[in-house]
Amino acid sequence: MSFAVHGLAVSQGIAIGHAHLVSHALLEVAHFTIAPRHVESEVTRLHSAVAAVKAELTGLKNATLTGAAPSEVDAFVGLHLMFLEDPMLVDAAEQLIRTRRANAEWALVQQMEQLVDQFEAIEDPYLRERKADVVQIVERVVKVLLGHPGHLPPKRKDGLGTIIVAHDLSPTDTIGFKDHAVAGFITDVGGPTGHTAIVARSMSIPAVVALRHIRHVIKDDEMLIVDGTRGVVIVDPDERVLEEYRLRKAELELERSKLKRLKSMRPATLDGEEVQLLANIELPPDAVQAKGVEADGIGLFRTEFLFMSRDTWPDEDEQFEAYRTVVKTMAGRPVTVRTLDVGADKELEGATQREDNPALGLRAIRYCLAEPKMYLTQLRALLRASHYGKLKILIPMLASSTEIDQTLVLLEKAKAQLRERKIKFDEHVPVGGMIEVPAAALCLGAFTKRLQFLSIGTNDLIQYTLAIDRGNEAVAHLYNPLHPAVLRLIHQTIQAGAKAGIPVSVCGEMAGDPDCARLLIGMGLRHFSMHPAQILEVKQEILRADSLDLTAKVQRLLKLEEPDKVREAVEKL
Ligand code: PEP
Ligand code: MG
Repeated sequence: MSFAVHGLAVSQGIAIGHAHLVSHALLEVAHFTIAPRHVESEVTRLHSAVAAVKAELTGLKNATLTGAAPSEVDAFVGLHLMFLEDPMLVDAAEQLIRTRRANAEWALVQQMEQLVDQFEAIEDPYLRERKADVVQIVERVVKVLLGHPGHLPPKRKDGLGTIIVAHDLSPTDTIGFKDHAVAGFITDVGGPTGHTAIVARSMSIPAVVALRHIRHVIKDDEMLIVDGTRGVVIVDPDERVLEEYRLRKAELELERSKLKRLKSMRPATLDGEEVQLLANIELPPDAVQAKGVEADGIGLFRTEFLFMSRDTWPDEDEQFEAYRTVVKTMAGRPVTVRTLDVGADKELEGATQREDNPALGLRAIRYCLAEPKMYLTQLRALLRASHYGKLKILIPMLASSTEIDQTLVLLEKAKAQLRERKIKFDEHVPVGGMIEVPAAALCLGAFTKRLQFLSIGTNDLIQYTLAIDRGNEAVAHLYNPLHPAVLRLIHQTIQAGAKAGIPVSVCGEMAGDPDCARLLIGMGLRHFSMHPAQILEVKQEILRADSLDLTAKVQRLLKLEEPDKVREAVEKL
């Protein structure tokens, strides 16, 4: 019998294939008492399983360095390895084996439950969500203990794909899909910001999560359609529905291959206005993807990812290598590197100070100026890399010109230190600032006087203008990029840059939204920076746009005061 189930769409696209049910190892864990003479071998069994999973994770970490695995993987691998090192987990499980003569998998699950309880009591939603990572890593170890570590099916002889049906999947499982004919996956739990969803998107595997008890209503080998765009799973579809989805899938694929043809075309509007489409990256291997879609350069390298999920900060040489790798990969194209933007939702390991309002606290440039030694190290590494290509330095979250002055003093100091060491660098390395605090967007003269370029971080500009915490689900519906106040600040910044003769880009999510491309062109924006996967779709919009016509329409739109009216006007552009 055919039926449909609705969940959360976390990775776009359509998958058609046969169900492969994955057992939930944690539910299979039994409790038994072991004989005293077996205690030592049980402890060894526990540590061997942990070592096997650690080796697997380390292998994955190395694969991200060569580009063989998506860089998104790096963040969770570090986290999962950290949990395996936590004495609260493995050491405490060992104690349970010794004191209670418990079997290893049961002991581990007991400790996991204790940790999960502790995570549940945390107020910060991001940290609270990390309990899913504890469960995933323990499940991985339990699978090794139970003797079925992998759950990937062999390739089907009929050429059809497989749809994985699981309670939950770890990002490690998801990466493993690459080498199997896995067309898509669906899970009982999960959310759009979980690491598994992020990895699925980076690998373009359609996925629907949060389907509650999906494993109980689907039979192994049953035919499934996964609509990762609408968040629907159709079980045992009839021939008519199947045909309809085959057609939609073919259309989507055609659309994608058509987009690929735009790769070599220069982005320009119908009336000949040249536009620059740049890429946002998080780790050096991402630059390969940026180059693959012919990005005009890197518009935002978020360097904080080099500092996260590790106990110590990367030293000058390690950072220099990372920045130089990107500059060399981009072979002469500009690379804008943002200095460390930690704080708020991006925390460093071992951060001891808890702030009540981290988004308004010691974040980004404020943090760097409070840690001048660390900042100088980063500035020296950046300067050294500037010798190998077109590197630009971008300062995040500026609110007042004194922060620029202090940064420039530190930059001069870094230059002097390198001169003393007789190390070459670009003496005229351009320095720009992010406009993401309303105070900056309202006092642009002080910024354009001191900086060589500006980049608008719409993600934070929206958060700070509308007083909406971007990580808080309870107010997510109020987060509105098209609020007239936000649009006026963006427009003002673009115009101030044009008047001062310095380039302005947008590097927040808005730049990668094809529905905002025409609006931004009409506001005068000519430099867009976004995730590499979004570049071709935005290019398509640019190629269809008439900048003169859009400028006139946007002038009128900017006079509107009501958010709903603005939205209607943007839709009509
Ligand atoms: C932004 O705020 O728009 C931005 C690009 O920075 P991040 O998302 O890294 O805060
Ligand atoms: Mg920001």
